[in-house]
Formats: sequence, C-alpha cells, structure tokens
Amino acid sequence: MAPVDAASFHDALIQRLGSERVLTGAAPMAAYESDALTAFRARPRAVVLVESAEEVVDVVRLCAAAEVPFLARGSGTSLSGGSLPVDDGVVIAMNRLNRILEVDPVRRIAVVEPGVVNLTVSDAAAPYGLYYSPDPSSQSVCTIGGNLATA
Ligand SMILES: Cc1cc2nc3c(=O)[nH]c(=O)nc-3n(C[C@H](O)[C@H](O)[C@H](O)COP(=O)(O)OP(=O)(O)OC[C@H]3O[C@@H](n4cnc5c(N)ncnc54)[C@H](O)[C@@H]3O)c2cc1C
Repeated sequence: MAPVDAASFHDALIQRLGSERVLTGAAPMAAYESDALTAFRARPRAVVLVESAEEVVDVVRLCAAAEVPFLARGSGTSLSGGSLPVDDGVVIAMNRLNRILEVDPVRRIAVVEPGVVNLTVSDAAAPYGLYYSPDPSSQSVCTIGGNLATA
C-alpha cells in the first residue's frame, strides 16, 4: 500500500475521531512530549484521544497505511522513557478507555479497559473486601495498560 501524504492522514484522523480528539500544535501536545523521565522529549505529529477498541484499531490501520509510527500511552508515569513519543509519530492516549466492565468477587477477576487507573480497580473491589495489589508506587495515576506493558 502506498504511503498517504501528511494532510490526508491528518484529515483521516479527524474524520474518524472528530477534531476535538485529535490534538496538534505545541501547547495541546506539551504534556505528551515526555513521560516521567523528562530529560528526554519528542514532539509527536498528533495525539489522539481514543474512546473505544474499534477506534484504536482504526487509528493503527491509518498509521500503518501512512507509514506513521505510533505509541500507546497511559498516564505517562514511566520512568524509563517508555511513553516517549516517536518523533513525528502519533500518540494514542488510552485514558478515556476507562470503564470497569465487571468485578467478579467469587472468581476474583476484574475486567477493565486499559485506561482504568490502578487505584480505581481497588476502589471497585473494596466493597467485597478485595483490592488490586500490584502497585508501582504510582497507583493513583498509572493505568492498567501501562502496568501490564511495563510488568
Ligand atoms: C513516583 C513514581 C514511582 C514509580 N515506582 C515504580 C515502581 O516501583 N516500579 C515500577 O515498575 N514502576 C514504577 N514507576 C513507573 C510507572 O508508574 C509504571 O511503569 C506504570 O506502570 C506506568 O503506567 P502508565 O499508565 O503511566 O503508563 P505510561 O507511562 O503511559 O506507559 C508505559 C509503557 O506502557 C505502554 N502502554 C501504556 N498503555 C498501554 C496500552 N494500553 N497498551 C499497550 N501499551 C501501553 C507505553 O507505550 C509505554 O511503553 C513509578 C513512577 C512514578 C512516577
């Protein structure tokens, strides 16, 4: 498949997500230029705020067709540059995928979307006398997706 030009790529992202969920420009993207290892920074070409798994799939497909690198991002608390954007790539921000789909206290299983904050899982399990024990010391901010990717 032939690479897509930059303007068409940007238009395709907006067509899929709407302009309010496609961030561009220095100020809107400033918070996404690094993770907690702030000595390293990179400017992405766009940050997309996805709200469903289908949107993630479509954004990844668009990136692949345009040969644009992409990076998933949770809360950016990585201390090792894990969520440092690729220069001119796309950051896929997972924070709006934040639904707890199921808490099964009998099987001790929670089904959650990747942008759910770690501590929120414990809050949801608390009425059953349970909690989510893995805590990388950033429990109140970091996401389950980020936890799994760095486990
Ligand atoms: C004060 C402080 C203390 C910390 N202590 C520890 C500690 O003791 N032990 C420890 O291990 N870490 C520690 N950390 C690091 C960090 O909190 C963890 O790595 C955490 O799991 C990152 O979660 P996040 O949501 O912020 O992910 P991010 O920083 O956004 O991303 C981390 C990595 O996960 C990937 N990623 C994120 N979401 C997804 C997804 N949905 N799908 C695929 N890939 C994804 C990113 O691409 C990136 O590579 C600490 C951080 C801070 C700020």
